Amino acid sequence: MREPRSYSTQSIILKHADLGEADRIITLLTPYRGKLHVIAKGARRPISKKAGHIDLLSHCQLHIATGRNMDIVTQAEGIEAFLHLRSELWHMTCGFYLSELVDRFLEEQTVHQDIYTLLLDSLRSLDSDAQRIHQQRTAGTLDSSQEHGRTQLLLRYFEMNLLSSIGYEPMFRSCAHCDTELEPVENGFTPALGGALCPNCSHLWAHPLSVNALKALRILQRTEWERVPTFRLEPRLHIEMELAMHGLLRYHLERDLKSWSFLEMLR
Ligand SMILES: [Zn+2]
Repeated sequence: MREPRSYSTQSIILKHADLGEADRIITLLTPYRGKLHVIAKGARRPISKKAGHIDLLSHCQLHIATGRNMDIVTQAEGIEAFLHLRSELWHMTCGFYLSELVDRFLEEQTVHQDIYTLLLDSLRSLDSDAQRIHQQRTAGTLDSSQEHGRTQLLLRYFEMNLLSSIGYEPMFRSCAHCDTELEPVENGFTPALGGALCPNCSHLWAHPLSVNALKALRILQRTEWERVPTFRLEPRLHIEMELAMHGLLRYHLERDLKSWSFLEMLR
């Protein structure tokens, strides 16, 4: 059967790269075709009608013509632009980080509807959090010590679910080495073994993991984001959870992500 000459797909824009004088190669995440690279001709011209709709992180409907080497965007319509997210540097950086994670972990054209939904829902959550922060700042009611708390949990939730979707579900219930159920005591954590380790396996710990960090990570693992309680965590607990999750990501990717140092600087 011959490939159809064109198709239409919902997309989230993950990445841009310049091509020639005026064109762009864009990396998309789509629900039914996975990750794709396509060409957007003339997208860097100031008068381009497509340009606004294919900004990074935009959710849009694209019409795409099948090309000999690469497919080409023929028409773009915006669905959601996430304007609140774009007006807060922290939230925008979080959004870029999520798209970087997806781009790094997904192979081209492998369909992952669950990850598409995860990314779309997470961008919506970032957008509404950015709106809330902006309103509180304007009203003078913003508690700046808690400003990034909810979004930091969202990043951990996203990392956890992304890893699980691609078959690397972190172990937080039973010991990643001996499989004994973990007790509410200080346990340990070793990215190379895939999660938390019990005190009997402490010779294999890369670093300790506190009871509270383990509890919070378990909640994120077993709860839909909308139902994750709005708990206030101490900054060191956020750092502990981040250390554990970044350890796993680094282990699977064998490298750091570009966004990490920028997020750390903003925090
Ligand atoms: Zn053990």
